[in-house]
Amino acid sequence: MSITRRDFLKTIGAGVAIAGVAGSPEAASGAPVPEAKIKGAQAVTSICPYCGVGCGLVAYVKDGKLVGVEGDPEHPINQGSLCSKGQAVFEIVTSPRRLTKVKYRAPGSDHWEDKDLDWAIQTLAQRIKATRDANFIAKNSAGVTVNRTEAIASIGAAALNNEECYLISKLMRSLGIVYLEHQARL
Ligand code: SF4
Repeated sequence: MSITRRDFLKTIGAGVAIAGVAGSPEAASGAPVPEAKIKGAQAVTSICPYCGVGCGLVAYVKDGKLVGVEGDPEHPINQGSLCSKGQAVFEIVTSPRRLTKVKYRAPGSDHWEDKDLDWAIQTLAQRIKATRDANFIAKNSAGVTVNRTEAIASIGAAALNNEECYLISKLMRSLGIVYLEHQARL
């Protein structure tokens, strides 16, 4: 007899209900049963940012704070499951080791400096422009107009959606950048 996922969950649910009626070991011992941390939280669906599989997530938010993340059982790709990376998504927001400032290590330097985002964006833009201009190829060796640079490449990540990928590829093509790649294809 084959058992579907839904049958399995129903069986588990029935088991939990019977245990609740009979009394769990913790309740029998008199120790308080801890309240579920997601009780009363708002459930918000999202997508795991780590890889191209694109598993569905349910994020639980209470009093403006993230209190839990689980696989979305309604999502057609992962049907509630998550790999070890997906299970660690909660820490993207909550980890005390989360980076909140831009880290910059200058060429030849042996240490990282904290920089603000405006500085980073401006510096990146200046260096992209300088690199492009210094390495721009208007015509190839056969005299054909190509208007490209081979000194810059772009790689996208799985967190990018279709619209972001479209905009990035438009920007790169407008700069003459021909080396475009995406992490999900590797
Ligand atoms: S949970 Fe794992 S397999 Fe699914 S998208 Fe995230 S990293 Fe990829």
